[in-house]
Amino acid sequence: MALFPAANLKLIDHKFLNVAPIAVYNRVNLHTQGGLGSLFGFRSQPNRPSAHFWVSQAGVVEQYVDTDIRAEADLEGNDATVSVETEGGESSAIAQIQEWTAPQLQSLTALVAWIMSTHNIELRLATDSKPGPSSRGLSWHRLGIDGNFPELPDMLAGRKQRGGGMHYSTATGKVCPGNAKIHQIPGILAAITGTSPAVVSPAPVAPTAAVPLEVDGFWGSATTTRAQEVLGQPADGQVRFQFRNNKQPAMTTGWVFDFAPGRGSPLITRMQEIMAAAGQYQGTVDGVAGSESTKGLQRRFGIAVDGILPAKSPTVMALQRALNAGTF
Ligand SMILES: [Zn+2]
Repeated sequence: MALFPAANLKLIDHKFLNVAPIAVYNRVNLHTQGGLGSLFGFRSQPNRPSAHFWVSQAGVVEQYVDTDIRAEADLEGNDATVSVETEGGESSAIAQIQEWTAPQLQSLTALVAWIMSTHNIELRLATDSKPGPSSRGLSWHRLGIDGNFPELPDMLAGRKQRGGGMHYSTATGKVCPGNAKIHQIPGILAAITGTSPAVVSPAPVAPTAAVPLEVDGFWGSATTTRAQEVLGQPADGQVRFQFRNNKQPAMTTGWVFDFAPGRGSPLITRMQEIMAAAGQYQGTVDGVAGSESTKGLQRRFGIAVDGILPAKSPTVMALQRALNAGTF
């Protein structure tokens, strides 16, 4: 038995686990849950991949799986990974920009220190998910997740940007952990080692310029750039979109047409995902802009729902106000 002394033990029934010993202890993988509250009930069901631990925003640690056996949160990494879920954002909209709280970070640091010391895991930051030394140490889910993440050198890069490796998830673009939390990870290791760790990224990401968007109801490149920043996507100011009816509304600039099938905009896709989770978007999550996406935005921002974006659109103005507040 390997149980964290400070944890609330909520061990998941073995009938819900693929009970097998961990082959070798190569890494701790950090995760973020999409939402709030203990995951014990949710994970105590068939086919719900479990993590070993969960840390709440208040700093409460729950242990779901004995670290002598495998959890299932890291797909191809499960045979060598101790996994830690953390209580996530109040909404998926802020998952990228919300840091771990101070008590959460304190408990997380203590927990990671215990795991690394108990299982002799190397005190280093993993730099990718490739089998071998570079994926050992303190790691995070995105290192093994494919998606449209920033290019190296940037801590926010994902599996593809780092040249491949093990898949820790079959999902694409999964916010796990979000950008702000990833930036806190070197500090966790530094607190454990008492020194500054080797940093994955040679240069910190420049903070977003605090110049407010003009609230003009015109969805141009500045609005797109700010939306990309708020939603944690590479900010290039271009939507790369399709319209279902292939018509570009008059109030947009910097939108690049791409009529290849199945290639909707990553930004519109993310917005659709968030709005669908909130019950506001009722169309297909495909990144294709159209009247359903517009209706989603109108429901989200309390605008009369007609699916139309006119010039000086009140819907776009509401979006711009939200983005100026750092939210979507
Ligand atoms: Zn995860």
